[in-house]
Amino acid sequence: MAVRVASTIVDLHESLADPRTGGRRIALVPTMGAIHDGHLGLVETAREHGDFVAASVFVNPTQFGPDEDFERYPRDLDRDVDLLGSAGVDVVFAPDVETMYPPGTESVMVDPGPLGQVLEGEFRPTHFRGVLTVVAKLFALLRPNTAIFGEKDYQQLVLVRHLVRSLHLGVDVVGRPIVRDDDGLAKSSRNVYLSDAERKAALALSHALREGADAAVGGTDAVLRAANGVLDAAGDVGLDYLALTDAELGDPAPGEPARLLVAARVGATRLIDNLGFDLPADTKRAT
Ligand code: AMP
Repeated sequence: MAVRVASTIVDLHESLADPRTGGRRIALVPTMGAIHDGHLGLVETAREHGDFVAASVFVNPTQFGPDEDFERYPRDLDRDVDLLGSAGVDVVFAPDVETMYPPGTESVMVDPGPLGQVLEGEFRPTHFRGVLTVVAKLFALLRPNTAIFGEKDYQQLVLVRHLVRSLHLGVDVVGRPIVRDDDGLAKSSRNVYLSDAERKAALALSHALREGADAAVGGTDAVLRAANGVLDAAGDVGLDYLALTDAELGDPAPGEPARLLVAARVGATRLIDNLGFDLPADTKRAT
């Protein structure tokens, strides 16, 4: 069946009425559009977890800082709807800003707590407040059984899980591994901003993460040394942070799953990436 596009809350509820009364499991894929294979991977996971798939396309103003790319963020709804429909999405929810933020309601926002102020939050202090607010609104409007988020935005995924637990939202949050180009660059809507030379320089991020993971046998210091070595040697990469954490973004521990996260500016474009791996049990903790 052809994909439906709902741009108002009334349209959305109409589209969801039959699936809901029919007892179908609704899986939601939230996006900001500029659909690429990373998003389509989330749709594939959504189809495994639900029998009615909704995707949202909404460039959420509250998660952008004043000097960020909200205005020039790539937008092409027709193309997005085609791609999402071909991938098996049943309804695309594409609201405007007033629908998501009715005038007079802007003052109520979700506070992400301390985890929203570290890593990405240190460089984008209001980002996760905007993200968790829009995710809470989407969950309230669609009441999905499951929602799929990419590990590409790893801190976001962890914080959305906190949101669901804290507010008893009852949504099963599923993470999907990062989809990469053949050369390792993580797919991102912002990759279109990169010139050829910048795209080459951007490979330092995924390369650094792999080198770091390969050094895990030597312990946490060795991981950071190896990854920093790659980033230091790369031209045109302005590092914001490189951090090694456990799976919940706390301190890394031997014998436990770890995450190595990086954010850097390549030219005028800010990119993030991360990689999960196990830290061996028999190495020393970082001092
Ligand atoms: P965005 O449209 O950038 O807000 O992303 C929407 C969702 O797609 C988020 O859950 C992202 O983590 C996820 N996503 C974006 N790029 C990728 C990727 N390369 N691999 C997996 N998930 C991704």
